[in-house]
Amino acid sequence: MEEVTLKSRAVVFALCVGVVAFILALLATSHGVIDRATITIALIPAIVCGAMSWASAERALSSTAAAIDLAIARLADAAEGDLDSPIPPEIADRVPQLASAMTSLFRQFDSDIEGIRRTARVDLVTGLPNRGHFREAAEAALAAPDMPGAALFFIDLDRFKAVNDTLGHARGDMLLAAVAGRLRVVAEEAVAASAATPLIGRLAGDEFTLLLPGIRETMAAARVGRSIQRALAEPFAIDGTAVEVGGSVGIALAPQHGATLGELMRAADLAMYQAKAEGRGRVAHFTDTIAAAVAERARLDEELRRALARDEFTLVFQPQIGARDGAVVAVEALLRWQHPEDGPRLPATFIRRAEESGMIVEIGDWVIARVAETLARWGADGTGQRLAVNISQRELDHALFFRRLHHGMRAAHAPAALLELEISESLAMRCSREVLDALALLRGDGATISIDNFGTGYSNLARLRELPIDRIKLDRSVIEHIATRAEARTIAHAVISLVHGLGCEAVAEGIESDAQANVLRVIGCDVLQGYAVAPPMDEPTLITWARGQRQRLAV
Ligand code: C2E
Ligand code: MG
Repeated sequence: MEEVTLKSRAVVFALCVGVVAFILALLATSHGVIDRATITIALIPAIVCGAMSWASAERALSSTAAAIDLAIARLADAAEGDLDSPIPPEIADRVPQLASAMTSLFRQFDSDIEGIRRTARVDLVTGLPNRGHFREAAEAALAAPDMPGAALFFIDLDRFKAVNDTLGHARGDMLLAAVAGRLRVVAEEAVAASAATPLIGRLAGDEFTLLLPGIRETMAAARVGRSIQRALAEPFAIDGTAVEVGGSVGIALAPQHGATLGELMRAADLAMYQAKAEGRGRVAHFTDTIAAAVAERARLDEELRRALARDEFTLVFQPQIGARDGAVVAVEALLRWQHPEDGPRLPATFIRRAEESGMIVEIGDWVIARVAETLARWGADGTGQRLAVNISQRELDHALFFRRLHHGMRAAHAPAALLELEISESLAMRCSREVLDALALLRGDGATISIDNFGTGYSNLARLRELPIDRIKLDRSVIEHIATRAEARTIAHAVISLVHGLGCEAVAEGIESDAQANVLRVIGCDVLQGYAVAPPMDEPTLITWARGQRQRLAV
């Protein structure tokens, strides 16, 4: 009878062990431990089962049954997470093999759990705390009651992408590990005189952070910043290759620039962007000027959103005339903002920010709708004037740009043949094959494509030849001195010959004097645009001006 009870308990026990093993294995797998540890975790309960079966067969004693009951209870506790309580001594007394199997099971799992914890907190490439761990530790350090103030450094490598692209990801990882090593040295040196513990983290990619408690003066932080900069500017020996990357460093101080880690990270990040904007390999401190620039950007974003909603934008029109006959050949649409407090604002005061924030896509939609509506009217009333519109990179990069343009033109019944798109030289050099194909299609529909501000970018002649373009607009800087300097004239002449060689029309913009216009006529420029011809004007003024121009030419 006792033997039967014992055997049935053995079955229950074996089942329990199986369930516990299953739970443990599931836990391990979900934490990414799927290999040796999982197998060990599965094997040890099997040994336990074997020992149990042996015990049940060999020792049909009630004390053994009691020990096994204790083992079941202890395993149930382990399944609840208790790996620390001792294994009851009765188990070792009655079934020593079972006790030792349980001990080694708990020990193994305990070390696996520790491994899992470590893996979840450490960046495997550099061995540094990862973003989550760094945050946790830095928040705790900043919240400490005896916190003496601290400096937070935001570090971004300058040419890491190029290293990854040219030397491959494995060497990129080696470089990151070497960078971490140098940052550790700088951090240890920085706090050597104090009892503070530096905290270094890898946030993502090539971004690192360093929190130095006790460094609260700008000068002291600047010294550390320069040490970081010097450490990263030295070439790294990666797999036998000397690699130069350099780093940009942004610094924020606690409590001056923020009491919480979130505030400090934002401030140091902004300072780091300032360092990059100043030319990389630099150190920048978070300052009131940066704070003011950020607030100004936020204000401008908000005002631009309001401007769209309240219809504060308008277009003005600047004519282009044939260099030989003076006839109006096209008109360029230029954006203006009727600011409720500041009055009329030029694109220079807002276009760049709109491009950065992406708001240019919505503003561009408004411009296209206005241009399409104007073209439809000009098509219908016989004005028949071609209208050029400026398109920026963010607009062109938008996947739906061409579809929206087609839709806008079709919805307004605007003739495509009267539309001209102006894209800058640098954009023309960079844009994708899909964009080139879409431009070619548009051109096939009768639209004109021109390259704007030619002479300000780095043109590739082979690329220029394959672009689907009709006109090239010489930047104002190319023609600025042609009336007074022979070399400027020679260069402008050569550029115009190049434009003609590409089978395009040469347009000069920014002409401010008759003398410039005369030189341009002599050196073969086809079309003239600038204050010396006519300034940008509103639509009724343009219509009147164009009528006057026709009359002037007729006499
Ligand atoms: P852009 O396309 O090169 O336009 C020519 C700029 O030169 C215009 O400035 C025009 O007013 C100005 N200009 C014309 N004649 C003369 C002259 O004789 N001398 C001088 N110094 N300047 C002259 P604006 O209107 O301030 O536009 C500046 C830039 O803003 C444009 O340069 C264009 O890149 C951008 N932009 C204007 N409207 C739009 C738009 O609707 N969408 C986009 N994405 N960009 C626009
Ligand atoms: Mg333009």
